[in-house]
Amino acid sequence: MKIADKNTKAVDLVRAALEKAKEYEDYHAFISMNEAHALERAREIDEKIARGEDAGRLAGVPFALKDNYLSPEGHTTAAAKMLENFISPITATAVARIEAEGAIMIGRTNLDAYAHGGSTENSYFGPTSNAYDKTRVSGGSSGGSAVAVALDIVPFALGSDTGGSIRQPASFNGVYGVKPTFGTVSRYGVVAMASSTDTMGCFAKNVDDANLVMSIMAGKDEKDSTTLNDFWTKPLEEATPAKKKIGLIKDFMGEGVDEEVKAAIRNYADKLRKAGYEIEEIRMPTLKYALAIYYIVVPAEIASNLSRYDGIRYGLRSKEAKDLDSVYNMTRDEGFMPENKRRIMIGNFVLSSGFFDAYYLKAQKARTLLINEYNKAFEKYDALLCPVAPRPAFKIGENTSDPLQMYLEDVMTVPPSLAGLPGLSIPAGESKAGLPIGAQLVGPRQSDQILLHIAKEVEE
Ligand code: GLN
Repeated sequence: MKIADKNTKAVDLVRAALEKAKEYEDYHAFISMNEAHALERAREIDEKIARGEDAGRLAGVPFALKDNYLSPEGHTTAAAKMLENFISPITATAVARIEAEGAIMIGRTNLDAYAHGGSTENSYFGPTSNAYDKTRVSGGSSGGSAVAVALDIVPFALGSDTGGSIRQPASFNGVYGVKPTFGTVSRYGVVAMASSTDTMGCFAKNVDDANLVMSIMAGKDEKDSTTLNDFWTKPLEEATPAKKKIGLIKDFMGEGVDEEVKAAIRNYADKLRKAGYEIEEIRMPTLKYALAIYYIVVPAEIASNLSRYDGIRYGLRSKEAKDLDSVYNMTRDEGFMPENKRRIMIGNFVLSSGFFDAYYLKAQKARTLLINEYNKAFEKYDALLCPVAPRPAFKIGENTSDPLQMYLEDVMTVPPSLAGLPGLSIPAGESKAGLPIGAQLVGPRQSDQILLHIAKEVEE
């Protein structure tokens, strides 16, 4: 990516990005633009450079921010009516770190409200179109960020991934998507979805850019006690895999998976072979339970996290409300999207005293079995390879009346999330109709840079 220096003005980089965003406005990648602040910051960066000061590793680089990251510039909406007019008093740690290196937020990108979804159709502000076909979904929930990078509006964008929300839209739009090990990047200042699987990562056009952005965001933060000590510290050349062996997950290469997707993954496996990797098929029988586990555990956490939207502390308060009960009920009815409500109901159901053992507790036990299965696989392999999604981007509206069908699209991205593992979405070709297809590499905890190293060896 282009960094501002004596010859490249930050103001020009930011202006170009803002103009491009305008040109592609009809894709609806952005919920709001940050033009005035962005240009002001760009001028400050240029002045710093003129004075001969260090303007940071991302000096003047424009970026797009998923609208669930808190920052006081403009509204942070999480694409929900509930937060339509919410101005944050704080800045998310990830954003603060990126901005401290000179990067400039040009706008906030669209998502499924509260990141609940895989198509960006659940946004209160309407859907985002796919960068390759306007009649198709951008994927989600970080659809706007993926499209902003795919259309070359910005060289990188931030996203969040709870069960696939970075990897799947990256795959649908032909860009890299990094979902790090749980705890790599602070969750402080990001609107919570499911606290045991929420991760913060990025989209980029190439491996080096992705690595640079992640290395800046990663590391301990006293405001998020689940953050790990910074392990994103190596030059990428040195993050070498020990075994040079990759497992191709057979369970995700069978029935129900698009033929063109399978062909793209086999083709990617061949490239890895040529780069010196041994590829072996592996069966992982527990994977078939991951979707069921996810759609119990995650709604349970969602129901808890969303209980804070009571119409009193912040965000919307219904104008119709007359007493305490109606403040709660009417605000939540008006402020949430149908998918948010569905998840709150499922979550409260699986946590209720009569059903806790049968659903929530059982799901957590099954989750442990899944983690064990991954651990066993990683005794033998550096990483596991599979598609990101069973098929390329689907049509806008195709799944909207059938939530279960929509959930099924997440089958390949939720397992690593439940296990806290890093997952990398890599552009791996296109279908005959010209739709991008992504390959997914998953590794043991904190092997994030090794995954990027592998991807770089076969990058085009
Ligand atoms: N599509 C998945 C879901 O709807 C993942 C969402 C996410 O990662 N935020 O839960």
